[in-house]
Amino acid sequence: MDVVTKRRRSEIMSSIRSKNTRPEAVVRRFVRQLGYTVKEHAAELPGTPDLVLPQRKAVIFVHGCFWHGCGRCDRGTRVPQTNTRFWQAKIATNRLRDRRVAARLRQQGWHVITVWACQTKDTLQLRNLLLLRLTVR
Ligand SMILES: [Zn+2]
Repeated sequence: MDVVTKRRRSEIMSSIRSKNTRPEAVVRRFVRQLGYTVKEHAAELPGTPDLVLPQRKAVIFVHGCFWHGCGRCDRGTRVPQTNTRFWQAKIATNRLRDRRVAARLRQQGWHVITVWACQTKDTLQLRNLLLLRLTVR
């Protein structure tokens, strides 16, 4: 007999679904499909990269468009109307940190790949992007 109600189960299922469609999970799935071993959230590396591909000596950051100031989509370029200066400063700080982290990783010999959340929506485009970035240095 079922211990969870129908309603609860549907809540559980929808939370699982939303987890699996997070941009990071989308990227991880593609990278695994390409045959790479993936390690997640490597805290020992600068910036704690979202995904690490040890065989390729590559790290992948999956950046939220708003927080990291994506220049490709509305979410990254539209700053909130209230506390505009605060948000601009916050995002500028994040971008600076991202650049420093990437530079440190490159110094250590890592191939640094950045994927923006908006780039994970078109699966064909994402696949091509990852293929290109992972096979060409
Ligand atoms: Zn974006």
